[in-house]
Amino acid sequence: TTRMTPVILVLFLLSMTPIFSVSLTKFLIHGDIMPSLMRNADPCTARGCKWRKKGRYVYVPFTIASDFIFQQMLLFTSFHRSTCIRFVWRRKQVDYLHFFSGTGCWSYIGRQGKQQKISLQKNGCVYTSTVQHEVLHALGFHHEQVRSDRDSYVKIHFGNIRPGLESNFRKVQTNNLGTPYDFNSVMQYPNYAFSKNGLPTITARCNPNLPLGCAKQISRNDIARVNRLYKCSK
Ligand SMILES: [Zn+2]
Repeated sequence: TTRMTPVILVLFLLSMTPIFSVSLTKFLIHGDIMPSLMRNADPCTARGCKWRKKGRYVYVPFTIASDFIFQQMLLFTSFHRSTCIRFVWRRKQVDYLHFFSGTGCWSYIGRQGKQQKISLQKNGCVYTSTVQHEVLHALGFHHEQVRSDRDSYVKIHFGNIRPGLESNFRKVQTNNLGTPYDFNSVMQYPNYAFSKNGLPTITARCNPNLPLGCAKQISRNDIARVNRLYKCSK
C-alpha cells in the first residue's frame, strides 16, 4: 500500500519556495491532482468516473473532517444554484468525498470509488475559487491549460518551467463539451505556474500580457461544462 503523498495548490503556486515545490511536486501530476493508478485524467468521464445521476440530480455524498466547520463547506451552494449537482451528507453510500485539511490543496479527477479525499489545507485553501477548483476535479474536470485544444489559445513556455515539472503542462485528450477555452475558468493556472526563472510559463496567444489564473469563482463556462457533462436539465 502506498501512502499517498500530498501536494500543492493553485494558490500556493504564486508564493511557493523552490524547496517546497521540489519536495512535493515530484509526487504530483498536473500540480494539484493526486496520481491514481486507476485513472488519471478526465477522459475517464467516458469510462465511468462520473458521479451517478438519480432522476434530475447527481448526488455527491460527502463527509467533512473536524478540521472544518460546516459553514465553510457552504461554498457548495454555488453548485446547487447553477447545476444539478447536489452535495449530500453521506449516510451509507459507498462512494463519497471526504474533505480534510491535508498538506496543500489537491483532489483526484472524477469519482474514484469508496472514500475519496479532497485536501483543503486550512490556512491556504478554503477560498471559494480553490474549493470549487478541487471539487471540479472530483467531478471529472482537468485544468484549462491542458485542454486538447489549448495550443490555439495559450502558449506554453517550456523553457521557463522548472525541470521535472513539465508534466503539469502535458496536453490531455479532454472532452471540451462544446465550450470555448476560457481564460476566466477557475481551472486555469496562473501565468507563472511552476516557473524556474520568474518568466511566464503560460501566456494567452491573443494577448501575452493577459493575467491568467485570477478567477475568484467558477465561471459561466465552468458551470456550462458541469451541466453538459452531467446532462442537467433546467
Ligand atoms: Zn487543479
